[in-house]
Amino acid sequence: MPLSEFSLIQRFFTKQSIANASTLLGIGDDCALMSIPEGYELAVTTDTMVENVHFFAGADPELLGHKLLAVNLSDLASMGAKPMSVTLALTLPEVDEQWLSGFSQGFLKLAERHSVDLIGGDTTSGPLTLTVQAMGLVPKGQALRRSNAKPGDFIYMTGFLGDAGLGLKIQQGYRCADSAAALSRFHQPEPQIQAGQDLLGLASACIDLSDGLAGDLGHILQQSQVGGCLDWEALPLSKTVLTYIKETGDWSMPLTAGDDYELCFTVSPERAASLTVPATKIGVIESELGMRLNKSGNIQSLEVKSFEHFS
Ligand code: ADP
Ligand code: MG
Repeated sequence: MPLSEFSLIQRFFTKQSIANASTLLGIGDDCALMSIPEGYELAVTTDTMVENVHFFAGADPELLGHKLLAVNLSDLASMGAKPMSVTLALTLPEVDEQWLSGFSQGFLKLAERHSVDLIGGDTTSGPLTLTVQAMGLVPKGQALRRSNAKPGDFIYMTGFLGDAGLGLKIQQGYRCADSAAALSRFHQPEPQIQAGQDLLGLASACIDLSDGLAGDLGHILQQSQVGGCLDWEALPLSKTVLTYIKETGDWSMPLTAGDDYELCFTVSPERAASLTVPATKIGVIESELGMRLNKSGNIQSLEVKSFEHFS
């Protein structure tokens, strides 16, 4: 007999201990309860992953569990919020205990590392669809929005650009000598939670790189009603990405590929000296609308475009 819905939740998703001080009541009642400390705002986000749209059928469930939570925590990081708790809505074609065990391990391991509690959810049957809602705390009035970049601000990003995109190319058949790092960047992104909080009071705008730098920075530019110029030579590209570009000529991959889950943010020149977050300066915000790329002194216009589900 397959596990009932209740014993499935009990067995794979209910932990005995509470990790986050804000959790008053977790899984088991009709609602979970959280307390919001004085002086903080609640940041809420949700992201869904659908089989054959966001991941391949047969994908490793432990990696999926990690990535599903990571992409949600990354949204909290980009606002400077400290993750607190999450809910999980699972739609499963069948009860596959081995799959559930791997998935919950990948999910809960990352949750534990950041003292995030899984406080509830829903379990239904249907085509494999995974949804998380994540909640975090941010000091009142300080959340990092997309809408506040100003002409003259420097553009920065954490980490490296395009490694996850290369991981996807490898997954699709591209052969390269050192594939392990890129594959791990694609399957196991690390949400930049500490960096996000360290940018509070410092960054004028911030976004996480989920859909590709051109598209995501495009959101900052559009919502801040400014333009910007990226410096090609300054982009933090790993050796393997540089080799990929040399071999294929596909230099735009790092600009358009998604899944890096690094933070892209802007800082005014006056505040730049106080920046302690390890990051690379990759360009500058300008008053002239649109996105441009300075490639060896040649300035070209970059289309502000990212992946869209309905186009
Ligand atoms: P209800 O019928 O009141 O919506 P459910 O039977 O769906 O309650 O869920 C019982 C409890 O288990 C609730 O506390 C719910 O939040 C939790 N829950 C259900 N599915 C999940 C899941 N996939 N992950 C975590 N908690 C879950
Ligand atoms: Mg329910």
